Amino acid sequence: MTERGLIVIGSGPAGVGAAEAFRTHNESTPVRFISADSALPYERPPLSKDFLRGETDDVALHPPSWFAERDIELVQGVEVDKIDADGGFAVIDGTQHYYTALVLATGATPSPLHVAGGERAFLLRSLSDAQRLRTAAADAQSAVVVGAGFIGCEAAASLARRGVSVTLVAPQDVPQEKRLGRAAGQQLLRLVEESGARYVGGVSVDAIHDGDVQLSNGARVDCDLVLAAAGVVPNSGVADAAGLDVDQSRVLVGADMATTAPHIFAAGDVAFAYNTSAGRRIATEHWQDAADQGAIAGASAAGVEAAWDSVPGFWTTIGDSDVKYHAWGDGFASSRLLLHKDGFTVWYERDDATVGVLTLNADDDYDLGERLVKEGSPAPVSMR
Ligand SMILES: Cc1cc2nc3c(=O)[nH]c(=O)nc-3n(C[C@H](O)[C@H](O)[C@H](O)COP(=O)(O)OP(=O)(O)OC[C@H]3O[C@@H](n4cnc5c(N)ncnc54)[C@H](O)[C@@H]3O)c2cc1C
Repeated sequence: MTERGLIVIGSGPAGVGAAEAFRTHNESTPVRFISADSALPYERPPLSKDFLRGETDDVALHPPSWFAERDIELVQGVEVDKIDADGGFAVIDGTQHYYTALVLATGATPSPLHVAGGERAFLLRSLSDAQRLRTAAADAQSAVVVGAGFIGCEAAASLARRGVSVTLVAPQDVPQEKRLGRAAGQQLLRLVEESGARYVGGVSVDAIHDGDVQLSNGARVDCDLVLAAAGVVPNSGVADAAGLDVDQSRVLVGADMATTAPHIFAAGDVAFAYNTSAGRRIATEHWQDAADQGAIAGASAAGVEAAWDSVPGFWTTIGDSDVKYHAWGDGFASSRLLLHKDGFTVWYERDDATVGVLTLNADDDYDLGERLVKEGSPAPVSMR
């Protein structure tokens, strides 16, 4: 692309959503997609599930023809070093690429473990990370997964399903106690254990040696491989250096995904976007929300009005169980667990408004919860 056009940085769901929406609204302006990842755009959710279990290799988001048919140029395996917001160009390998509009969809990077031997741990974000982990898992008898967020729980269950003896370690007594509450954490613990993994809570990792992990309680856990699943850090360095407003490593954007710099938009895990239903900015790290925000950024870049108003949410698969979550995700004052015959619902409230719902085999509650969260209505059960 020598002509100016839309530049999209990042080939995750936010970037793909942005390029697709822009092209829907604008058939003629050149669209160039630049991504540090050298693989064709793919789905990340299977990487800790079916792909890690060895049940699929097919994670492509679209066939190569999809991009050609839409006249979207793909530049892969290339990093954008700098954006000059005043000059209106991005710098790649010292060359200036001018844009009419730019969408930053640079996502996030897994946090490494800052302990002795931390570099021995596998990380899981990209397809090449997942390929390395899966290859190592094929020869492993035992594994330690550090961190019991959804990716940690999913990966622990998938490794266990492969016949690996898995120990999941995390600082909280039950998985995600801080984020989802103790009752919900106990349900997640049950799913992790049913999948065949062992959970050790209330500990941190002090060191990783060749062949074992040293825990803060003095115990050593023998293992052939270690996976660090200790959260992510948004990739906002380029935005920060360009002078865009960034808060807690996320790029501040309005409901239309516009940043504080002209013609620059941001979407997905790297963005801290205003949600019109919530009436405040909401941080998300979910696939569908990244795709939705990307589509809004692409429409806005094409000059079409669009605003983010949907309730964030995701599905996670732990062993054979699909847990579904809709929530603003920025805290709750009370929660109530209701057990069903083969599942559960956890309602979350703050200031008499539903702020989240977590379900297993309770799709009616999941759908109802989305509506109540969006409206700011009370939960449909007493919270005492
Ligand atoms: C293993 C795994 C399982 C997951 N499972 C689920 C799930 O079940 N449900 C769910 O909702 N979410 C899940 N997620 C989270 C979801 O995948 C992310 O929220 C989503 O991918 C974020 O999309 P994004 O487009 O913002 O960023 P990303 O998908 O991270 O894409 C960012 C892209 O930007 C590129 N990039 C970064 N910096 C530069 C630069 N300077 N120059 C050029 N390119 C750059 C990166 O290489 C990458 O291609 C999972 C994530 C992982 C890793």
